[in-house]
Amino acid sequence: MFYNEEFETLPRQALEALQLKRLKQTLERVYANVPFYKGALDKAGIRPDDVKGLDDLKKLPFTYKQDMRDSYPYGLFAVPMEDIVRIHASSGTTGKPTVVGYTRKDIDTWSELMARSFVASGVHKGDIIHNAYGYGLFTGGLGAHYGAERLGASVIPMSGGNTKKQIMIMQDFGSTVLTCTPSYSLFMAEAAREEGINFQELSLRVGIFGAEPWSEAMRIEIEEKLNLCAIDIYGLSEIMGPGVAIECCEEKRGLHIWEDHFIPEIINPDTGEVLPEGEPGELVITTITKEGIPLLRYRTRDITSINYEPCSCGRTHARIARMSGRSDDMLIIRGVNVFPSQIESILMGIEGVEPHYLLIVDRKDNLDTLEVQVEVDESLFSDEVKILQALSSLIEKQIKEMLGVTCKVRLVEPRTIARSEGKAKRVIDNRGKA
Ligand SMILES: [Zn+2]
Repeated sequence: MFYNEEFETLPRQALEALQLKRLKQTLERVYANVPFYKGALDKAGIRPDDVKGLDDLKKLPFTYKQDMRDSYPYGLFAVPMEDIVRIHASSGTTGKPTVVGYTRKDIDTWSELMARSFVASGVHKGDIIHNAYGYGLFTGGLGAHYGAERLGASVIPMSGGNTKKQIMIMQDFGSTVLTCTPSYSLFMAEAAREEGINFQELSLRVGIFGAEPWSEAMRIEIEEKLNLCAIDIYGLSEIMGPGVAIECCEEKRGLHIWEDHFIPEIINPDTGEVLPEGEPGELVITTITKEGIPLLRYRTRDITSINYEPCSCGRTHARIARMSGRSDDMLIIRGVNVFPSQIESILMGIEGVEPHYLLIVDRKDNLDTLEVQVEVDESLFSDEVKILQALSSLIEKQIKEMLGVTCKVRLVEPRTIARSEGKAKRVIDNRGKA
């Protein structure tokens, strides 16, 4: 099933010809309308008509999140404000947010790509979509909402929070699709269990989860606890919002990135060199149809790899691997690179361990320390201390073997670790703090 069969199944040659045409148009537009890009291209000694093939993309300068902050709020917009019909912003952990603007055509494209994403995940007209992504400056809520309406499904604009009510609505309204962060879905499952509500009795069939990295093991956990097919979606407000890439329900192996609107590259984050197919590195995206705020070679900081092999679903668009983390989130512990998602994968594979954990990084006597706090099944606490000790040793051993980092595991009782209704907080890094 496709939403836009012609474009979703374009043969590679035609797809690349379309990309080149659109890339050239984008270059002309930003060179003429965005002083930042005119400056950056002049500095790199490139005129828009120097780009003759897709291979020339690698000559273009990168755009960093910092460039967006430096031009706060509207400096990178490529159209006059009267053409902007929507403004979103992503919350910055430091200082000012990153601001993005959409023309009417941008909203139209976003809605279509989100509708395509729903169909790829197995959702169709007639579904009741319970949208628990936050509505507001964050792109998640409205992005999924417009896509659901475009598709013709019934969308319930729940937004985040008020979990008891969420569960009641899902139950009473017969929601068939749930959209939220993966960690919030597990939080809901837990809350439902406390209310004596069984997810097996709800009508949910598909869950579309994104906005934070999650592991394959967490997928299995979610599918079991919520009794649905869990699909990974990817997006970021700088590029558009949700719906940049999504897994197809046929394979659930890699996320199709909509290449008629975005050109993906994987680079070595340290050298900027473009890496070959299959090698993990930082995802860089060039938008080729956006009007409001087109971006050239945007450094997403997300770590993945790309796969151009044909997919059994019939879509010809490349697939990016499930995000293994953000290069920003990467922890360096005694010189070893560690992503929270890697630790999560290990934890999820151990029986009796709950999907709630917190990594506490500190420095003692100039040596990095890692404490892994993890919730375990209630029944374990009534058992002998020996069993708990054996379990924490097992986790420590597996983390050491698989990631090469020594840690201290602290098992805690269920519901000890703070829950989040949005993105889960997985790391507390106390290094560098007084
Ligand atoms: Zn596919």
